Amino acid sequence: MRISLDEAAARLKNGEVVAIPTETVYGLAADATNDAALQQIFTIKQRPADHPLIVHIGDISQVIDWAAEFPELAVNLAKAFWPGALTLVLPAKDHVSRVVRGGESTIALRVPDHPVTQALLKASGLSVAAPSANLFTQLSPTSADHVEAGLGNAIPVLDGGACRVGIESTIVSVSEDEAGAHWQLLRPGMISEVEITRVAGQPQYASEIHVEDTLASIPVPKVPGQHALHYSPRTPLRLFKDKAALLSECKVLMQEKITCAALFVGAAEALQYTSSELPRMELPDLPAQVAEQLYGALHALDDLKVDCLLVEMPPNTPEWTAVRDRLSRAGHH
Ligand code: AMP
Ligand code: MG
Repeated sequence: MRISLDEAAARLKNGEVVAIPTETVYGLAADATNDAALQQIFTIKQRPADHPLIVHIGDISQVIDWAAEFPELAVNLAKAFWPGALTLVLPAKDHVSRVVRGGESTIALRVPDHPVTQALLKASGLSVAAPSANLFTQLSPTSADHVEAGLGNAIPVLDGGACRVGIESTIVSVSEDEAGAHWQLLRPGMISEVEITRVAGQPQYASEIHVEDTLASIPVPKVPGQHALHYSPRTPLRLFKDKAALLSECKVLMQEKITCAALFVGAAEALQYTSSELPRMELPDLPAQVAEQLYGALHALDDLKVDCLLVEMPPNTPEWTAVRDRLSRAGHH
């Protein structure tokens, strides 16, 4: 059910849950100070209560309403990247809802860079918690249609068009001790670790987010709510290091009468090799464009209802870290 901005603001103020656009993915939003409203997010998403929610605020001046500390290092990151796809995890003020922080002592904050989200925050006068508007572990939505396909037509959706970034925000935690302030990357995103380092210096701990070349094991940081299995289509998904490996496995599967569809990164060569029986999508060879189109492509391939999705992994280089992270989790069956 599509609703207007005014209706979305009114419903949020009334303690209801509304799906909203952001530049990253669509969020399932509720007043971040209203525990009953926040509980509905967990219920609708079937999300475990210990998975904290990101609070979306209107501007940097609101950080002190939520965070007990706002070290200079974090201020610098906020000034450099907000509004934008960076979430800062900071020590929470005592009064901050335990529901929104999933029992943690910290709170995750972000200023979204989307005109409709900004207008909604202004119109409602609220800060909203908004995890992705999908069932727990499933693919994130990047359009209003995706939200309705995943959560049903009864969910009120504010349509703000297709998401420009297309994958979830980069998450950085910042803490302070006698030695000063430190940061750690908790989730890679399109704002890269290199860009963060340029503003904040070297991280306290090296990022543990490595996507193994073998794709067999994916060590992930011990962060609440970061599951190996996440961002998954319903169809089993398998990852391949290049087109040749994908196509040779595809031949074997097709001989066994297993139906497949493929997702390639970079188009040209794929065309010569692929048989006409293989439904496929091709993404451009640029990280930002692949991120923007990734979930849309996976939603579309999922809708084909084949037995298996075969996905070519982009190269193991820094600019592809975030896309590789999401694909690894989608393929972690
Ligand atoms: P999302 O599922 O995209 O809404 O992102 C929420 C994720 O942000 C969680 O799964 C955590 O990984 C991280 N996060 C949110 N709040 C906190 C917090 N208070 N402390 C640590 N990590 C958090
Ligand atoms: Mg999510």
